[in-house]
Amino acid sequence: MSATDFSNLPLSSEQLATLASLNYEQMTPVQAESLPAILAGEDVIAQAQTGSGKTAAFALGLLAKLDVTDFRIQTLVLCPTRELAEQVAEEIRRLARSQANIKVLTLCGGAPARVQTQSLQHGAHVIVGTPGRVLDHLTQQRLDFSNLQTLVLDEADRMLDMGFQEELDSIIAATPASRQTLLFSATFPAQIASLTKALMRSPKHVVVSDSTIEAQIEQVFYQVTDKNREDAVIQLLLERQPTNAILFCNTKRATHALFTLLHNYGFSVQALHGDLEQKDREQTLLQFNNQSVRILVATDVAARGLDIKALDLVINVELAHDVDTHIHRVGRTGRAGEVGVAITLLTPADDYKFSLLQDTMPTPIQPKKLPEPAANLQRPLPAEMTTIQILGGKKDKLRPGDIVGALTKSGAIDFDSVGKITVQSNASYVAVKKAKAKQALAVLTQDKLKGRRFRARLL
Ligand code: AMP
Repeated sequence: MSATDFSNLPLSSEQLATLASLNYEQMTPVQAESLPAILAGEDVIAQAQTGSGKTAAFALGLLAKLDVTDFRIQTLVLCPTRELAEQVAEEIRRLARSQANIKVLTLCGGAPARVQTQSLQHGAHVIVGTPGRVLDHLTQQRLDFSNLQTLVLDEADRMLDMGFQEELDSIIAATPASRQTLLFSATFPAQIASLTKALMRSPKHVVVSDSTIEAQIEQVFYQVTDKNREDAVIQLLLERQPTNAILFCNTKRATHALFTLLHNYGFSVQALHGDLEQKDREQTLLQFNNQSVRILVATDVAARGLDIKALDLVINVELAHDVDTHIHRVGRTGRAGEVGVAITLLTPADDYKFSLLQDTMPTPIQPKKLPEPAANLQRPLPAEMTTIQILGGKKDKLRPGDIVGALTKSGAIDFDSVGKITVQSNASYVAVKKAKAKQALAVLTQDKLKGRRFRARLL
């Protein structure tokens, strides 16, 4: 048994079985460093990025002390964005599989407050939400935190960046001082230090050393010019043929221009920036997550809180304005033990910013010249899947099983051709292998689901 075995921890045998069933074989560095203290009920401040396994670290802690028979709110997790909150809730539910009837409720802006209020009336053990919406419910006295045992602040630096300080203060004031507080943050600006001082009792600090991060992420820097920057991106994508990649630009304009170029070139690509409506943003993320889109071109703001498993490649098309943002971008690749690659394109105008970045690195890095393109470059890799949207969802009592059932019933579409299924309240999305997309659409529009015919379309 090695030191990073979950069985070293005081976890129930059911919880250990759940971890094994999820193929969580060894603790990640953040988990190994923080879980003993978290499970002992201590306050913990942990430096951890998306992909480090931080969600499971606090989820295992809060689940270990949850009393299912008590229907008052026992845990509150605050996150900067709705996407992150939803992913956190999903991970908590996954890890709670062996504990029957644990109710996890998400309270985020962008979703109707009325529906959330109804759900709250039925009680919940765990609330995962964004500060603005949680405070709204609290002010309206629809939330009672007087029995709260655990408070988690996830991506605390991002919440402060987004101006949530006041909301955080008001929410925390409504929780009992006896609570356990866990704070996770990728960076530690001064604001975080003062927040933790006010908030936590002799917290344990967990810093996962740079070497563990370095081991998982290969960073490459290429010298380019403004003129050949876009050609460099195309060359890198064609040479590396990543399964999935995020390309970061510093402005919406640059994001849009690069998206258009790559789209016209034939790449499977979408843009993600702040001008998109919430609905379009969600559909883009969904298609990226279910492998219907391989490449996202994004601004930092748009990519906040986004959690994609096992990202192959990050390209900093433009160097980030500050070191923290660079670290955040790069941290999106190479998650949970897999090796990822982060490529950064530098122009002479970046010299100063790059020297600041160099200062944070253990060894100096020499930017390379971009090699000549190979003679036999392949074509852009098409996406593996296509997404079909069905205009029916939870409100129509549709479940993922109904959709798989309908698709595979006739035998024309095999189980392996059906990918990720997402059922939302009014719509559902199913990813199917590209070659089967037309057939699948025909089945879904012609056959009945739950005794009814629904409209469906290819996204
Ligand atoms: P997070 O940093 O919480 O966003 O987690 C990144 C991903 O790693 C999530 O998809 C988790 O399901 C996964 N994960 C977390 N802990 C482990 C573990 N010990 N072993 C394998 N995968 C893990």
